[in-house]
Amino acid sequence: MERKNAWLSYDKKQKKELMALGERYRVFISRGKTERECVELAVAEAKKAGYLSLEEAKALGRKLVPGDKVYADIMGKSLALFTVGTEPWEKGMNILGAHIDSPRLDIKQNPLYEDTDIVLMDTHYYGGIKKYQWVALPLALHGVVVKKDGTVIKVALGESPKDPVLCITDLLPHLAANQMSKPAAKVVEGEDLNLIIGSEKVVEKKAEKGGEPKASVMKNIKDILEKTYGIEEEDFLSAELEVVPAGEARDLGLDRSMILGYGQDDRICGYTSLQAMLKVEAPKRTSCCLLVDKEEIGSVGATGMHSRFFENTVAELIALTEEYCDLKLRRALTNSRMLSSDVSAGHDPNYPGVDEKKNAAYMGRGLVFNKFTGSRGKGGCNDASAEYLAYVRRVMDEAGVFWQTAELGKVDEGGGGTIAYIAGNYGMNVVDAGISILSMHAPWEVASKADIYEATKGYEAFLKAE
Ligand code: MN
Ligand code: MN
Repeated sequence: MERKNAWLSYDKKQKKELMALGERYRVFISRGKTERECVELAVAEAKKAGYLSLEEAKALGRKLVPGDKVYADIMGKSLALFTVGTEPWEKGMNILGAHIDSPRLDIKQNPLYEDTDIVLMDTHYYGGIKKYQWVALPLALHGVVVKKDGTVIKVALGESPKDPVLCITDLLPHLAANQMSKPAAKVVEGEDLNLIIGSEKVVEKKAEKGGEPKASVMKNIKDILEKTYGIEEEDFLSAELEVVPAGEARDLGLDRSMILGYGQDDRICGYTSLQAMLKVEAPKRTSCCLLVDKEEIGSVGATGMHSRFFENTVAELIALTEEYCDLKLRRALTNSRMLSSDVSAGHDPNYPGVDEKKNAAYMGRGLVFNKFTGSRGKGGCNDASAEYLAYVRRVMDEAGVFWQTAELGKVDEGGGGTIAYIAGNYGMNVVDAGISILSMHAPWEVASKADIYEATKGYEAFLKAE
């Protein structure tokens, strides 16, 4: 049962479309390096496609009708988009869900210190990273600093070629005998992921008669922070600053068939889901696209999938469309169908040993469906029903989408989770779907443009299915 490679199927026109989509995606992930930036980019695209904010929809002064498009922004970090269908809400929605947070290093609340004429910032990593991958490469700083008066200062430093970048150092091989004998998890320790941000020493206080002047690197750094951003040290206490690899995503390969970029887990599913969503006009079943935060740390908090924001937003929309009652909300959720979209581990010829080959995901073979994820005997997974998988097979085949099925590695090799089981709690049908990538969770991840193209087609077919 080997699945076919999608590249062989394309004519000239399709290849052109595929490359154009790949380029739009490349630009999106180059600009959207935090969940907040992704929400901003997605909202801008949604507005262009005719979406109103939930607040605007409430102020319309009329009920919502089929074809109306509404988005809800959750604290600027998660986003829910809806296109109202011709069927009543209680019949359920077709939902695409993906996450837009990615592994990274967060700046600590009290980060600044000077050590031996170098100023550094302390970090605390977010999500599952191999810490040794984050040293000796150019890093950028993205996020917000919020002043006590509520002023939000946006930071995106290290992306323009004119910007300086930041860096965490590694030990030279000449003195690394001890380091190199450690297990990989200990080669670079979390508390040692300290970001270099300056080294120019300046005079703080002129010399008194016969004495030395008081000098520091810190004074200069604080002056620069004040002058460039208007922030003082205490403002870090109310900041969310994320350290991410600096620079744009790039075409990968002589044939430009792949993308090398940061944060493709899971912005690759987020972007393709959004593109599919923006193509839907007045469907039969209401369409929904969820781009959520906090998946990498367990989908917790106000902006994670465990939060009630989704259910609350659906309640708001039902009330804007029909006479509201609680039972309609419960039916709307239970009768929904969902593709919980997250990346799969692509089979990597450099590391073939971790896969069972018949049940692995392959680059270029299209959208990947995982009946289950989890670990150690499917622990913690949403095990999609056979009936629902049959339905999804039919929808994909009828739309001519290239797709494959996979598990995450060999039995007991490891495992992972997604947001699928959380949506499953509503009693809806949900299956894990997504795009396979190589070097998942590394600063630079690899994806196939053919898979981006097939996923977008698959998501669109799913949303439009009756
Ligand atoms: Mn993911
Ligand atoms: Mn992940």
